[in-house]
Amino acid sequence: MKPFKICDGLYQIGGPEITAPEDCCVYLLDGGGELAIIDAGLGRSAPELIGNIKKLALDPASVKYLVATHGHIDHTGGLAYLKEKLQAKVVAHEHELPAVEGKNVSLTAASYYGVKYRPVAVDVVLRGEEETLDLGGLKLVFLHTPGHTPGGISPYVDFGGKRILFGQDIHGPFHPAWGSDLAAWEQSMRRLLALKPDILCEGHFGIYQPYEKVKRYIEGYLQRYREKA
Ligand SMILES: [Zn+2]
Ligand SMILES: [Zn+2]
Repeated sequence: MKPFKICDGLYQIGGPEITAPEDCCVYLLDGGGELAIIDAGLGRSAPELIGNIKKLALDPASVKYLVATHGHIDHTGGLAYLKEKLQAKVVAHEHELPAVEGKNVSLTAASYYGVKYRPVAVDVVLRGEEETLDLGGLKLVFLHTPGHTPGGISPYVDFGGKRILFGQDIHGPFHPAWGSDLAAWEQSMRRLLALKPDILCEGHFGIYQPYEKVKRYIEGYLQRYREKA
């Protein structure tokens, strides 16, 4: 599958169907003159991600931010390469620094994938429950949504009359070695539902819209994990 436009200003440039089976979904947001890449895949297909931006007739040199929604290697493995080639700023939550910056590689789940993680310095460290960054004419809001990992973030943006949410690992899984916290996750999911997003860009399963489908998707997991608990 080729990289494609989801709606105005929003594209998918990587993922299992587009770049490599082990990649998370990689999204590109165009704020008008400035771009942000949401997550970076496992790493092997990082050069292809840059090629895919060009295929969409966008300029990779306009990438301002590389957002790491959390520190698992299927989301962060490509960051070091992309930062080097694009001179963009890596954005992550402070609680994910040990993973992203490579101080505690077991937090990246790299051994599960049998690859080596290439650490990267984080340029914009998110610390609060909610922070915003400007991207061209857009305001990109970062919600701290712990649960799957302690410093998971869910960015969202209001654009073209729609609210677009990037909720990468809503489905879990949960593992004590990653600092997963099911109670924190449940709270995080309630915050995402309260946003009433029109479009959910999910980290492994693609795109859900409209809001009714987003709601059903998130509530489905809340139900599933409640039954397990
Ligand atoms: Zn993960
Ligand atoms: Zn994931």
